[in-house]
Amino acid sequence: MKVLEADAKALLRAHGLAVPRGTTATTGEAAAQIADDIGRCVVKAQVPAGGRGKAGGVVMADDAAAAEAAAVALLVSSLGELVVNAVLVEERLDIESELYLAVVIDTSAGRPMIMASSLGGIEVEAASGSMTRVMLDPGVAITDGQIAEVATALGIDERGESVIGSGIESAIRAIHHTFDDLGALLVEVNPLVVTVDGHVIAADAKIELDDAVAHPALELSDSAESGTELELEAAERGLRLIELGGNVAILANGAGLTMTTMDAVSHHGGTPANFLEIGGDAYTLAEPALELTLRQSGVRSLLVNFCGAFARCDVMTEGVVNALESLRPGLPVFFSIHGTGQDEAREMVRTRLGIEPFESMDDAVLAAVEAAR
Ligand code: GDP
Ligand code: MN
Repeated sequence: MKVLEADAKALLRAHGLAVPRGTTATTGEAAAQIADDIGRCVVKAQVPAGGRGKAGGVVMADDAAAAEAAAVALLVSSLGELVVNAVLVEERLDIESELYLAVVIDTSAGRPMIMASSLGGIEVEAASGSMTRVMLDPGVAITDGQIAEVATALGIDERGESVIGSGIESAIRAIHHTFDDLGALLVEVNPLVVTVDGHVIAADAKIELDDAVAHPALELSDSAESGTELELEAAERGLRLIELGGNVAILANGAGLTMTTMDAVSHHGGTPANFLEIGGDAYTLAEPALELTLRQSGVRSLLVNFCGAFARCDVMTEGVVNALESLRPGLPVFFSIHGTGQDEAREMVRTRLGIEPFESMDDAVLAAVEAAR
């Protein structure tokens, strides 16, 4: 299964890699709203294929009007055979260097391998001669030596100058961790950008998941076909809810983060009660979303996991806090909130709900799993 760029970035962000601020839109109006907040931005067609830069699927926009025009043009277009159903509107990076970094299963050796080049970007095929390959041992943690080898391969740009800032090693670790954690077939970041002010950020991302690896979220497509009463009611209200029969209810933003949260719950020995994806519309839809999922039998705790790479945490959290104040569910609620607006969001949870949000997502997941036992 190929994960779209926006979801791939949410997965990478949840594993510690910096990604540009932004969110997806399905209308020109929504794109304009996002751009209004962000300023100078890039509007990118969300299709499961690369080469969008060359095909006109990546458009620079200086203001909201330009973003709206770009989004409208992309949303009525198709790239090759692929229809564009959504665009990602995100902050424009000031690029110093474009690197290529991927972790992939080398099919001939049946082992994971890191591929790295300091000549990333849209001409990467032409740079295949400059690609460094580092074989990894499956089931064995990546070594400091292997990280250093990859960092060295990434560190010299076309002018022969070092581009390694302190961020490069942690970026390598985050990308490898994402691959490992998801049991992925491919995690590719091209370009991995070093910005003019020295930050290392994923400007593009591609993830391919192994359909044979049990990701609870991968069962979605099967269960979505039939649809329980609650699922159909959710669909009517514009929400994607899938009942999974466990006892930890999950509310997270974006399909990628929701999937990661479900995997983390399973990892800690818990069982997710649902897949409930909510996006920037958490503010308006939190109440029906929570009302529906808390109606599921067997739900014993609620885990709210927001990652503000694609939407503001404080806005989403305010929706959830309002909903919890009006619904007053008699069950423990656990929060993990990271990214844009996290401080305001955490303060809101503290003062209005009297709940202390967790610093780490893992601790929040563990607490929710234990409370549901
Ligand atoms: P792909 O062609 O489908 O792989 O799409 P990418 O997301 O990789 O974008 C293609 C190219 O657009 C990149 O290699 C960059 O050169 C350029 N690009 C993408 N995002 C930004 C950005 O935020 N700032 C600038 N200056 N260029 C960007
Ligand atoms: Mn790319």
